[in-house]
Order: sequence, then C-alpha cells, then structure tokens
Amino acid sequence: MRSVLQEQARSPVVPPKAWNALDVQELRAEFPLLMRWVRGRPLAYLDNAATTQKPAVVLDALERYYGTSNANVHRGVHLLGEEATAAFELARHKVQRFLQAREPGEIVFVKGATEAINLVAQGLTRQGWFRQGDEIVLSAMEHHANIVPWQRVRDDTGARLRVVPLLDDGTLDLDAYERMVGPRTRLVAVTHASNVLGTINPIRRMVEVAREAGARVMVDGAQAAQHEPVDVQELGCDYYAFSGHKVYGPMGIGVLYGRADRLDELPPLLLGGEMIRTVTFESTTFADAPYRFEGGTPNVGGAVALGAAIDYVLGLGLEAIGAWEQSLLAYGLTQLTRIPGVRVFGQAPRRAPVISFVLEGVHAHDLGTILDAAGVAVRAGHHCCQPLMARLGVPATVRASFAMYNTTEEIDRLAAAVDSARQVFA
Ligand SMILES: *Cc1c(COP(=O)(O)O)cnc(C)c1O
Repeated sequence: MRSVLQEQARSPVVPPKAWNALDVQELRAEFPLLMRWVRGRPLAYLDNAATTQKPAVVLDALERYYGTSNANVHRGVHLLGEEATAAFELARHKVQRFLQAREPGEIVFVKGATEAINLVAQGLTRQGWFRQGDEIVLSAMEHHANIVPWQRVRDDTGARLRVVPLLDDGTLDLDAYERMVGPRTRLVAVTHASNVLGTINPIRRMVEVAREAGARVMVDGAQAAQHEPVDVQELGCDYYAFSGHKVYGPMGIGVLYGRADRLDELPPLLLGGEMIRTVTFESTTFADAPYRFEGGTPNVGGAVALGAAIDYVLGLGLEAIGAWEQSLLAYGLTQLTRIPGVRVFGQAPRRAPVISFVLEGVHAHDLGTILDAAGVAVRAGHHCCQPLMARLGVPATVRASFAMYNTTEEIDRLAAAVDSARQVFA
C-alpha cells in the first residue's frame, strides 16, 4: 500500500479541468452511498445542503491515512510522525489553493464552520475589538451558527447587533446595508449563500462598504465553496469559513481562512498542546498562526480526506459542477412551481442549488415524511434559520438541495411525491 503522502503527492493540487458536462451516471458510481435503497426504493438524496455524500477517493484517503501513516503530528521524531505531518500540511496547501489564499499559514483547520465562527467571535472579543456601543452587522438570512456567537459577543462587550433586512425576492436590502454600515460598525458577519433561499450575496461589494467604514468582514461560506470557485483575495474578506462535510469531505473537519495580519493578532480559542511555543507554570508563549489555533491533536485524517475531496472537486471543475447544479435548480423550480399549492421562497437572480418550499395545507414535516416514504431525502424544518422563518412567515419549509451527482429523474420523483401528497390532502 502506498503511503498517504505518496498517494496525495501523486494527485496534482489543481488537476486539469474536465470541461463539458459531467457524466453524472459515471460520477454517481463513485459514491458508494448513492447505491443504497431506502424504504424499498432507490435513494434520491436531495439533502445536500445538510451534508454531502462522499466519493470513494475520499473514503480511500481516510482509510489509507489510518492504514499507513497514522501518527500524531508536529512532534514525531519517527517516520510516521513525519509522514502524518507532511500529509496534514499538504492538505493545508490544497485548501489554500482552493480558496486562493495568499499562503498556507492563512488556513486553520477546525471542526467546521461553526467552530470557525466561534473562534473569530471569541478571539475578537478577547482582542478588545468591540467596545460598548460598537455595532456588528448581520443579515436576516444567517444560519444560527452566524448569529448565536455574535449574541455572546454582544453580551460580553456591550456591542449592538444590527440586521440587514431581506427584500421580498430573497435578496438582501443593500441600500439598507449601506445606510447601516458606519463609523460604529466593527464587523459585518454575512453568509456567502443562504442555506434556505439559495441567495448568493454580493460579498465583494459588501466588503467594500465595510472596508470604507473600517469594519472587518466574516463570511460564512458553508453553502458556497461546494458550488462555485471562491477567491478570498478577490472577495477581500478578513475571515472565511466552510465545513468539509458539505464539500464531499468528512465530518469533523472544516476551515477558517484568516488574512495573515488578522490571524497574527487574534488570540486562540483552545489552549493546550500543539499550540504553544514554551510553557512554564508561570506563563506560556503561543505558537504562530495557524498552529496557535489548532490546540490539541487535530483531525489529521479528516484534513487529508478533505484534501482528497478538494482534488476531486477541482478535477471535475467547479465551473462544470456549478453549471450542472444550476440546470438541476432550474429544472426543479419548473417542476415544483407547476404543482398547485406549492410556494417557493426566494427568487434571487444568483442562487445556490437550494429550493425551499411549502405545500398549502400540509405541514412541512408531514411532507418531509411523505417524501421519505417515497425514497426522497429532503430536509424539513427551520434549517437553523429561525429568524429567517419568522421573516418568511412560516414555521418551517421543505428544502430540496442539489449536488453534482443529482439527476433530473430524482427531481421528477420529488415532484411526483409532492403532487401525490397534494392529491391526498386536497
Ligand atoms: C451548515 C451550515 C453552517 C454550520 O456548519 P457546521 O458544519 O454545522 O459547522 C453554517 N452556516 C451555514 C450557512 C450552513 O449551511
């Protein structure tokens, strides 16, 4: 068995792009879980905004890491420790390229987007970035992961939270945003793409506005990085977070990007081993970024497998993936809106392949259960966006979310099951 590092090194960081449409049937065969049947039918997995399924190359990378090179990193004097460390750092390089960061040191491995946002929120608080009366600007479409950490900052510092309102088409009210951002604004925390409406926010423009006011910008990229190329330098944001498991990688690994100068001044969240330079009982000096933020044994296998997922995605080409997903989105919108009583939320011109809807007279959870019985996996609920649900005036929606491996046949099954639910309940 080749070692994990040999195998990783064999795959180029940015492989040649496979342009043209994806061969979806061929691609599906690379995802073992998609072969499953559920409730007596072939699985139609349309819950990709919650988590994506994993291709064999990712599962293999995980197994190869644990089967050949597993050791603790950054301290082994032995060969395995060297291999594990090199594999971990190679994965960091892959993420750097994936996000177009300037240097690998700007990439911090964390558990997921949630931890990344908490790390920034707690770090900025400790750094003294927020004072009484300062303002943190959020948007009406944020996931709880990009709301709750800022409420703690508010409670700890006396900063105020302000919320950019939503227009009826599911886009942010950018005029209101421009009026809201001013000298008191210290931070803008905004999602790149909404996990409910799909809306892709104009991050670059929002960053420019924030920058002019001297505010920092934290971008929640959990619904964007799997659908379109992300260039953090072009976006100009200070911090960017995403979760490996939504980009075809494993759970328990995610990324915080921070501009080098921002990370240099940010205090760590987790204190302990791996993140120190020297320790006495009197005092401790911390290691440099990114290691300062990776206290404790990191998820090395997860990082290596995330590197394999990134190779896989870049090998297919995010443009090709995005184009296919957009055609699924258009097809899904057509099929669902034809059904009487279906109401779809959001019509942003630029959106991720996510459709949130309700069926008149049927509770979202009941509809989700009916779809499950038909072998169609969707999410039903508030999608960790209770404030957005309140704005939309519904307690819950059903959400179908697409990935590279979905097909129009699966969408037909979704639409047929929704239509039969309508007939039963009508
Ligand atoms: C999934 C998601 C998160 C949280 O990601 P975790 O992997 O659960 O940490 C945050 N924001 C958005 C928009 C999401 O979709």
